[in-house]
Amino acid sequence: MTYDNNNIFAKILRNEIPCKKIYEDEFVLSFYDINPQKKIHALVIPKGKYVDLDDFANNASIDEIAGLIKGINLVAKKLNISVDTGKGYRVLANISEHGGQEVPHLHFHLFGGESVGKMVQ
Ligand code: AMP
Repeated sequence: MTYDNNNIFAKILRNEIPCKKIYEDEFVLSFYDINPQKKIHALVIPKGKYVDLDDFANNASIDEIAGLIKGINLVAKKLNISVDTGKGYRVLANISEHGGQEVPHLHFHLFGGESVGKMVQ
């Protein structure tokens, strides 16, 4: 799938629409999900144009990959849900059709602030 420059997260990255920002560095942007499914529901997205995790694994640089994984951990610490500062959380990435992905820019969901229940419903 080619990257759609008009997807909603691309617009957030270009500051064309607002978000409730949690964290930003050269590799990632993190903001609260507009429709939270748990007490804490954050999103972490790479700044690069990647459709999904497969695209990212195939095409991102090692620095971008490291930056995204580090970014998830930094956001979890900031939200006090990491094992260092809180009680843990769930990370989830939906990928393409069977994964139920709606926004075609790679994103990781972070769920926490309460027990998040069984893995798959
Ligand atoms: P997915 O199904 O994994 O593609 O998830 C897309 C997520 O993006 C959903 O949880 C939406 O609630 C969330 N979302 C859509 N638009 C926005 C927005 N403008 N700001 C924050 N989150 C959004």
